[in-house]
Amino acid sequence: MNEHPNFNALKHDIIDPLPSNLHPDQIYNLACAASPRRYQADPIHTVRTCVQGVFNLLELASTRNARILQASTSEIYGDPKEHPQHESYHGNVNPVGIRSCYDEGKRCAETLMSDYGRTRGVTAKIARIFNTYGPGMAVDDGRVVSTFIDQALRAKALTVYGDGSQTRSLCYVDDMIKGLILLMNSVDTFRGPVNLGNTQEISVLDIALRISELAPHEPKIVFKPLPADDPTVRCPDIALARRHLDWNPTVQFEEGLRLTYAHFARTANGRQLPESGIGPANSHIEK
Ligand code: UDP
Repeated sequence: MNEHPNFNALKHDIIDPLPSNLHPDQIYNLACAASPRRYQADPIHTVRTCVQGVFNLLELASTRNARILQASTSEIYGDPKEHPQHESYHGNVNPVGIRSCYDEGKRCAETLMSDYGRTRGVTAKIARIFNTYGPGMAVDDGRVVSTFIDQALRAKALTVYGDGSQTRSLCYVDDMIKGLILLMNSVDTFRGPVNLGNTQEISVLDIALRISELAPHEPKIVFKPLPADDPTVRCPDIALARRHLDWNPTVQFEEGLRLTYAHFARTANGRQLPESGIGPANSHIEK
């Protein structure tokens, strides 16, 4: 990674005081586990990342006169009572549940960003990122797309939580990165919060069926208990991003899924896979 002359990688936990020799122009804060399995593994660390970590980065932005972009989340909206979710919606979040470390942590991060903007003049921009997927996801991080693809490639049953009727809107990673860069470089006065996500809403069961169609065998689908506070719907209203950033996701779910599946089939993050390929399959639902 350090081979590019203009690139320098520094491994550092943002919870800890930052080195004093940093002089950034722009700070993209993407730090924080984003999959429920990962952020719930050490919830206190998750809260500290979102609060102490963001505080440290905002202090850096403030003293260096740098712009900062915070990767916020659709989890701000919790289990939404408004659908689709517009940025003006304040959300429906459980403050004491198993998802709270992430949801409330990210909400507090938005508060810190807003207050540093108001009181310290920091150009602090907030992107509310909806579910994002693509090649490069950790195969074992527990999120729906990577988990189902991994299960399909290993000829395991796809584990649908609940009855699979809950929905998500999945954005391909390339689209998301373009949106983040556009927001960072947009006019100083446009700070969000702004939703970034794909508006193509799909149920979890349909995600499983689409991935089944790519598998060369016939994956079963098994139904497991729905985790607590799992949002029932999620779909972004992206009018604000369209208007201010001229941003629109361009990769349809079918295409993004095909690219992601093909990548996992080729690499599976180094895991040894049985012979596999992409081909049609009849899926088999099992309760
Ligand atoms: N999900 C599932 N099976 C899995 C992993 C996830 O049915 O093996 C469901 C999960 O309950 C949720 C949706 O897929 O309703 C998206 O989960 P993910 O962890 O990807 O992200 P979330 O939006 O919940 O943060």
